[in-house]
Amino acid sequence: MSLSNLGTEQLQEKDRSYVFHPSTYLAKHSRGETPNRIMAGAEGVYIWDTEGRKSLDGFGGLYCVNMGYGCAEIAEAIAQQARELPFAHVYAGQGTKPVALLAEAIVEYFGQNMRRVFFGLSGSDANETNIKLVWYYHNILGLPQKKKIISRLRGYHGSGLVTGSLTGLPFFHDHFDLPLEIVRHTTTPHYYRQAQDGESEEAFSKRCADELEALILAEGPETVGAFIGEPVLGTGGIIPPPQGYWTAIQAVLDKYNILLIADEVVCGFDRTGEKFGSHLYGMRPDIVTVAKGLSSAYLPISGSIIGERVWSVLEQGTEKHGALGHGWTYSGHTLCAAAALANLDVLKKKNILEHVRDVGPYWQEQMKAKLDGHPIVGEVRGVGILSAVELMRDPKQRIPFEPNLQVGVRAAATLLENGVIGRAMPHADTIGFAPPLIIKRNEIDIIVDATARTVDATYRSLK
Ligand code: PLP
Repeated sequence: MSLSNLGTEQLQEKDRSYVFHPSTYLAKHSRGETPNRIMAGAEGVYIWDTEGRKSLDGFGGLYCVNMGYGCAEIAEAIAQQARELPFAHVYAGQGTKPVALLAEAIVEYFGQNMRRVFFGLSGSDANETNIKLVWYYHNILGLPQKKKIISRLRGYHGSGLVTGSLTGLPFFHDHFDLPLEIVRHTTTPHYYRQAQDGESEEAFSKRCADELEALILAEGPETVGAFIGEPVLGTGGIIPPPQGYWTAIQAVLDKYNILLIADEVVCGFDRTGEKFGSHLYGMRPDIVTVAKGLSSAYLPISGSIIGERVWSVLEQGTEKHGALGHGWTYSGHTLCAAAALANLDVLKKKNILEHVRDVGPYWQEQMKAKLDGHPIVGEVRGVGILSAVELMRDPKQRIPFEPNLQVGVRAAATLLENGVIGRAMPHADTIGFAPPLIIKRNEIDIIVDATARTVDATYRSLK
């Protein structure tokens, strides 16, 4: 059947009848009560549907299309690799050129004490790998009790069994029998919503670290294996850490011999204006999770970057017990690695890091200039090319809207009518932005203006 013969309605009908969508109200979707846009093409920062309706993609897919749509170099690298060698596994020491070159490029891009990259296909599977490696590490060191993993309320680390548990959002737990018993959650480092009256950012960071320490002591430090966190909280609301946060957290982890996993799935590869969020905030992770921006989503690929401390123990473990029993068929998939390698090449050739350092501050200033102080704007926040606007009934008293009003969802729908895709984040009434990193100033202006108009319209609709 030729796809080109199918009209929008026929595609929608097939979609509603056969596709099981993630994070979707299934019954409403089947009944035709949810929006059902069928996307058809894209170029640069724009994406359009089968009806030709074009939107500026202010969320870069799901913060992943970092080099933008229609990048010929990546498409060509995939095609060439598909002709040459579409797949060779990397089990039992077998290698391929793109995988070897990609692993080297990633280790060098992160720097610090990173040694090896284990490849997967998604942020979730990379974090599943990381937790298994934490357990293996402590077992080899003779500390088999050190199995609990601490993450933050409102952190997001995936939606598998362990990773869905690490995710600190009830939406991903409820009715799934999660979180698993080995996971604990600690304070969300959100200064605007969590700080006490008169508390400075530094004092709030210290309190977050104190609460983490209290949790570790209550659980028993000998039972806590690792802490996982995103440098900037992403899906939980795009929340940069308060001043001094990571330094204070790192000190607690060091004190109790707890590994740090930096989940850089969103922040990695220049999004914050540094190569990695860890660099921006002075984190010293033992393991780093990457995905999304690694290939700009042209093909799925993730990586667990393993630092010296863990790597040396993994090697010791195999000296004692033989080969490590972990892997996916598509670990180091040849085509995905070729796509990622080309993506990193484009990122360097276009000097995206300098570009983000140039337009990122402009974007943050413009958002604040147009939205701060609005009667329903609680906070305008962000870093680099990551930004969020949190809507509140009473911004000064920090009173949110009643959840049943669905203010965030309604605002995102209005924004779409204004030509821009922003994401209604799953917690609170927050509209998030993470457009492709190639975004230009005039395109930033379009997002900012559309957001300002949207917030005004939302305000009027609530009166
Ligand atoms: N970690 C972070 C920080 C993420 O934002 C995400 C996805 O948004 C994941 C992990 C999970 O990645 P995936 O959806 O590719 O499994």
